[in-house]
Amino acid sequence: MTMKVAFVGLGIMGEAMAKNVVKKGYSLSVYNRSGEKAKRLEEKGAAVAGTPKDAAKAADVVILMLTGPEAVGEVLEGPEGLSEGLEPGKTLINMSTVPPSYAKALSKRLEPLGVAVIDAPVSGSRKPAEEGTLVILAGGPEDKVKEMEPLLLTMGKKIIYCGQAGQGASMKMATNLLLGIMAAGLCEAVNLGQKCGLSTSTMLETMLSGPMGCALFEFKKPMLISGAYSAQFPLKHMEKDLKFIIQTADEAGAAVPGGHTAFQLYRQALGHGLADMDFAAVKKVFEMMSDPFPLV
Ligand code: NAP
Repeated sequence: MTMKVAFVGLGIMGEAMAKNVVKKGYSLSVYNRSGEKAKRLEEKGAAVAGTPKDAAKAADVVILMLTGPEAVGEVLEGPEGLSEGLEPGKTLINMSTVPPSYAKALSKRLEPLGVAVIDAPVSGSRKPAEEGTLVILAGGPEDKVKEMEPLLLTMGKKIIYCGQAGQGASMKMATNLLLGIMAAGLCEAVNLGQKCGLSTSTMLETMLSGPMGCALFEFKKPMLISGAYSAQFPLKHMEKDLKFIIQTADEAGAAVPGGHTAFQLYRQALGHGLADMDFAAVKKVFEMMSDPFPLV
């Protein structure tokens, strides 16, 4: 395998995804702002680059898995940034969740330099990232996405081609709008049942046995029963994504009333110090909003 890959951003998702790339035999160099996370990849056989520029120089393909536009901008244009090492003929795959308008602008900025840009955000959280079973939502030149398929399939079980630059990000916006609303809806319903005196497990058994049974609710069940919300998908990222979703809806002229309500709920959760918990911790907001002295 001759393709040289660089992976930038070794957070919850990036570390697991980069491990899968190196496990499948790709020559990999990694860069992370806080250096200690890169050491864990070095133990798996990756080379550690000292700067984003060095990571880009050593690679044919650069993958980004960063928090969002600010982080991508800093890594790309900051001192010793990626853009200094991205020569013509190289490919940039941005897997970070960013708004479609940002993904399009990134492509416009780099394509005149001869760099192919793919936006490829993912559906799935820490466990699928570890297992290499993410669903990858790709936008950009179709032939380039096809060429990158073997590399992308080291991290995911399925690649969905969504259209030209920015359309992977658009698909991510639509998907996460549903995700944010569904999780908040489940928490609201469970909180109502609890206030009525129902058992949480009986309630979830009921919800999961009927037509609403789904993998998301199954996944959140132990959290709602135990009240422990260890982060799979941190709440701060859901709040960030809903902010991008509202911005995207505004630009596209789409009505997203449920998205606005969900955004306010997750934002309130941030204010209560729940940023690093799983996004299902939005349940605590419903608890706090409820009457502490109910009549029943
Ligand atoms: P994370 O654990 O918070 O990691 C964020 C990464 O971005 C870290 O490597 C961090 O470096 C880096 N970073 C942040 N700001 C930076 C800056 N200004 N300059 C350079 N590097 C910076 O996030 P994650 O959960 O892996 O998520 C990554 C992306 O995937 C996000 O866009 C998220 O919305 C999306 N996503 C996440 C999940 C999930 O379940 N977690 C699921 C689907 C999609 P440091 O280590 O130095 O802080």
